[in-house]
Amino acid sequence: MSGCARLRGFLTMRIDIITLFPDMCEAFLGDSILGRARKRGHLQICCHHLRDHAYDRHQCVDDRPFGGGKGMLLMAEPMADAIDSVLEETGSRPHIIYLSPQGKTLTQQRVRELAEMDHLLLLCGHYEGLDERIIDAYVDEQISCGDYVLTGGELPAMILADSVSRMLPGVLAEDVCFEEESHFDGVLEYPQYTRPAVWRGRAVPEVLLSGHHGKIAAWRRQQSLIRTRKSRPDLFEKLELSRSDQRLLEQIDDNKG
Ligand code: SAM
Repeated sequence: MSGCARLRGFLTMRIDIITLFPDMCEAFLGDSILGRARKRGHLQICCHHLRDHAYDRHQCVDDRPFGGGKGMLLMAEPMADAIDSVLEETGSRPHIIYLSPQGKTLTQQRVRELAEMDHLLLLCGHYEGLDERIIDAYVDEQISCGDYVLTGGELPAMILADSVSRMLPGVLAEDVCFEEESHFDGVLEYPQYTRPAVWRGRAVPEVLLSGHHGKIAAWRRQQSLIRTRKSRPDLFEKLELSRSDQRLLEQIDDNKG
């Protein structure tokens, strides 16, 4: 176990990660917003080295797949031992997720649901992945970060840990920080600008300098709707537009015509 207090029962969310590369994960998770959130106790993340659970003196955790084929597979026993030791140490039954290209693609909706859980255990595959019996015996859910294949589950595990962590109370300055962002309520975020007001001849939209909160909110909603319609028609189709949304879109369509 690396750098993680032995806690039985925890008030904040706990995420355990079993990986061949705990240092790589720690480097990411120890920095920036997540690093600060961990230090302040808003969440606990523990990275565990799979090789600590190898049972031979070479710390071997992989073997050739039965039936032949290229590549190596992570053996069942070291992974099972690593999982069992997390269960024993925490005295809890976490929701066990295998990061896999065969899982359902992660969405903001699933991130919100996962953020409601007390304890997640993330399994990072490598080489050809996990022995299927580990999936049958332990895994509650397989999650993919997209329809492409990476060399290991560490980056997807970081994506999951990052996206879930920022939903937890206290991690971001205010809830509004994520509530206004893309995907939270099915639309993409509006365009944003900072100083200077004119940069290389490009001026910030005037309404943003007006100080008129109502007009700014309406402009932002309008931009969100336009962007979503243009860039993500699949999301736009699923939206239930309010009367005021429809009016905002009509204004734009009338101006074009
Ligand atoms: N043989 C596997 C297959 O075809 O489904 C792919 C194995 S991949 C080379 C090695 C590991 O990387 C996987 O076990 C998984 O943990 C991780 N991985 C690769 N692509 C991923 C993705 N899109 N989403 C989540 N995890 C992924």
